[in-house]
Amino acid sequence: MTLDELERYDADAVEYCGDRAVVVGGSVAGLLAARVLADGFDEVLVLERDEVPDEPVQRDGVPQATQIHALLEAGRATIEDCCPGYCESLLAAGGVLLDGARDLRFYDQGGYLADGPRRMPFYAATRPLFEDVLREHVTAGRSVTVQDRTRVTDFLLDDDGDAVVGVERREGTGDAERVPADVVVDATGRASRTPRWLEANGFPAPPVEDVPIDVGYATVAVERPPGGRKTMLAMASAPRTRGEAVFPVEGDRWLVNVHGVAGDHPPADLDGVREFAASLPTDAAATTLSEHEIRGDVHAYRFPSSRRRYYERLDTVPEGLLVVGDALASFNPIYGQGMSVAALEALALHRALAADGTTGLPERFFENAAPVVDHAWEMAVGADAPFAPGNAPVPGRVAAFGRYFDHVMRAAQDDGHLREALMRVIAMQDSPTALVRPRVLRRVAAAEVRNARARRSTTGSALRRLASALGSRFA
Ligand SMILES: Cc1cc2nc3c(=O)[nH]c(=O)nc-3n(C[C@H](O)[C@H](O)[C@H](O)COP(=O)(O)OP(=O)(O)OC[C@H]3O[C@@H](n4cnc5c(N)ncnc54)[C@H](O)[C@@H]3O)c2cc1C
Repeated sequence: MTLDELERYDADAVEYCGDRAVVVGGSVAGLLAARVLADGFDEVLVLERDEVPDEPVQRDGVPQATQIHALLEAGRATIEDCCPGYCESLLAAGGVLLDGARDLRFYDQGGYLADGPRRMPFYAATRPLFEDVLREHVTAGRSVTVQDRTRVTDFLLDDDGDAVVGVERREGTGDAERVPADVVVDATGRASRTPRWLEANGFPAPPVEDVPIDVGYATVAVERPPGGRKTMLAMASAPRTRGEAVFPVEGDRWLVNVHGVAGDHPPADLDGVREFAASLPTDAAATTLSEHEIRGDVHAYRFPSSRRRYYERLDTVPEGLLVVGDALASFNPIYGQGMSVAALEALALHRALAADGTTGLPERFFENAAPVVDHAWEMAVGADAPFAPGNAPVPGRVAAFGRYFDHVMRAAQDDGHLREALMRVIAMQDSPTALVRPRVLRRVAAAEVRNARARRSTTGSALRRLASALGSRFA
């Protein structure tokens, strides 16, 4: 489900739900869940293992934060609904507002997409800045408290063993302490231990799907002159295993990224990154690296597989236990959807609370969140299908969508309206089915006809040139 299909946030929709909710993990998904829980609970406690200073910093619990992050429209609009003024604060702190219709040079299928007809705002900043500004907004004037350097070591069950009633936590090396709660949200990211905890406590673990992609990233910051807005993206796209991205961020920097899927990883040193950049289809990363001062080290990151945990398929989930963000599903990050999915999941939680408070909440939430995850999952897994190792099976519908997506990309090189349609799907505003609406199909078909004619006429004129060359030689 996408932004346009979901009922938006309504500040008055949630009634009193309980005394306390605990969110485990104070990253983007945890903060967004805390924000919507604050409408129904007297107190929302976010327990975070890392130290969280009052400024944007890289921290151990979010290693991906060294890599490029963009906030797409579904995430932007949803966060702005729940935290009015978020985008203004982001800009004031140096985040960059870009136009997805024109500023972003988007390379795929051998060419750049045409400019789109209408503005499509999106935001670029470092991941620590997105989170820092969000934390400010979520905690300001609300009943949300973030307690850092606090590790959650267990969930607590009631005497009957069928409802989660709190957590056990440890501050630093201190003793374990029990924290009662009406609702506990696991926002601990991809390494979530909830499936193991469920099994250890007599519940079934959710079915898990892992789709290998084996992507390696290397990212380096370079100096950006005042007003420099160069923004480009050339994702790895079959059969090309390599890609690149250049995004402006706060602090007058660009983040320059090179990446490779299916094990074709870039080296993690500057010379290696330059060499890798020289092998890419455009010179955007290479020239940005050579023309501007390097600001800092190369940061490498590896992402083995898109992973989804199907909690919605379980017959029994303990009352009071929810799972959000990367702990629920994490996708090949090339598509930049994680924070937006987390935002739409927060909206799903908001709607689940509004429907009937905490009664039957896990079931309702997982049901609401599943179609949100479906969208990002099918896009990422569909586009990655050609890279599946050993032709691992990808559902036919998903693989077919991936192939069709490539056709639309090609057609969008001459048609800004198709670029807009694509960008709206990528930004999770529209469902992928928007790409098979008659007017989109007509434009794709028209582009295919144009391209076929161009190919025929290129082949025809090449043949004519060859014939005349041959004729003059043998005359
Ligand atoms: C390379 C890369 C690039 C990406 N680019 C984009 C992008 O452009 N746009 C986008 O929207 N998304 C992007 N994403 C995805 C995005 O980073 C995540 O989806 C988003 O941060 C949400 O993650 P999360 O909050 O669920 O988990 P995480 O960010 O992983 O945070 C989990 C938190 O839980 C804490 N924690 C863990 N265990 C415990 C415990 N026991 N007790 C207390 N705390 C605990 C950790 O310290 C951490 O703070 C990218 C991801 C990667 C890997």
